[in-house]
Amino acid sequence: MMKQTVLRGMMGFPCRELPEPPRVWEEALAADTATRRTLYIHIPYCRSRCPFCPFYFGGAGEEETAEYVRLLRLELERWGELAGRFPVNAVYFGGGTPSDLGAESLVSLLDAVRKNYRLAADCEITVEGRIDGFEPEKARRLAAHGANRLSIGIQTFDTELRRRLGRVSDRRAILGRLEALAAINEFSLVIDLLYALPGQTAARWEADLATLLAATRVSGLDLYRLKVSDTLPLAAAIRAGKLPPVPDDETAYAMHLAGVEAMRSAGAVRISPVHFAFEARERNLNNTVSSSKQVCLQFGMKAVGRLAGRRFMQHSEFRSYRELVSAGRKPVKSAGLLPPDFAACGELAGQIYRPMRIFPGRVAAAAPATVRERVETAVRSGAEHWAERGFLTAEPGGGFALTERANFSHREMASDLMERIAEAYS
Ligand code: SF4
Repeated sequence: MMKQTVLRGMMGFPCRELPEPPRVWEEALAADTATRRTLYIHIPYCRSRCPFCPFYFGGAGEEETAEYVRLLRLELERWGELAGRFPVNAVYFGGGTPSDLGAESLVSLLDAVRKNYRLAADCEITVEGRIDGFEPEKARRLAAHGANRLSIGIQTFDTELRRRLGRVSDRRAILGRLEALAAINEFSLVIDLLYALPGQTAARWEADLATLLAATRVSGLDLYRLKVSDTLPLAAAIRAGKLPPVPDDETAYAMHLAGVEAMRSAGAVRISPVHFAFEARERNLNNTVSSSKQVCLQFGMKAVGRLAGRRFMQHSEFRSYRELVSAGRKPVKSAGLLPPDFAACGELAGQIYRPMRIFPGRVAAAAPATVRERVETAVRSGAEHWAERGFLTAEPGGGFALTERANFSHREMASDLMERIAEAYS
């Protein structure tokens, strides 16, 4: 089989595989230094598959779920002493669907985190999930045990479009539940809205935005374009004519602009190309810290993390996960050595995410003195190239602001700039 080369980018990064992954983790932990960090806890299961989702892993019965939670707690406890030496800036329970776990399970995991890790005084603790998994009483309990942010994948308020995405709750149920959660006033309440859904028109998207602004009191939101890769069930349904097609690129871009304009006119603060805050309590700290590829301590099956210049991926197979955790080893399936330009590329990625501006000098400051000048020149000339193509605007002082076109899609630009940084190291 041909080996695929991973390009540098906002999401992926090439690395050299290292033998004995659990040992690599232990060594990385010993070499850890006090830098900004997140703690990521993965709950892989979902009770049903959303046809647009590339992250679906599978479901689990009650017994397996209970055993998984027990093992996850064990894993958190096992590494607390060493991995908990430095303050953690953000904790994220992601998935999968963490909210499918019962209140007791989530509370026991929150307690394990708080007991075994040193959390920064302003640590953000997010639990992600579906709207029907956050009953108000459960949300109150999570807040009482430290969760200060709920992130809910709403996708759309439009009941008919929701059905096409395999979502169960209807518009009325969502709005009622969101209001009940906002009224608790114990956490930042953030939601995702997607645009460019199958058969979605500009008018229907604008109706979603109007609903968001008039009928909810959420603290913040992500606005994402739905991307349908060929292998997903949703793509198959569209190909078979069972669902209408998704809007084309230019229509999707117009929807993005409409979303940004709606947020601007509502006074929302833009935190990243896709994230907006309506109140100061919404900080989006986890994504902000991770966007610059800083330390991420991973826990749970299939979780991915970074530490001391290494990238780790945990086992996705229950038996292997259980065996290693029970033996007191880190359940890491693969470990990779990240290249030396990783820190400078991370700085660039962090700037693209927030403040949505590129500062060549600051990117270069993350590189060793020997290549700093070359890195700065490479980023500057790359930025000028992308400015000519309409993705960046040169600003007084030497920085480059992302244009709205780049806020909509900057994957290619980020990748190109990172490859230029790598060349400057060679
Ligand atoms: S619940 Fe979330 S992770 Fe699970 S299939 Fe749906 S979108 Fe994907």
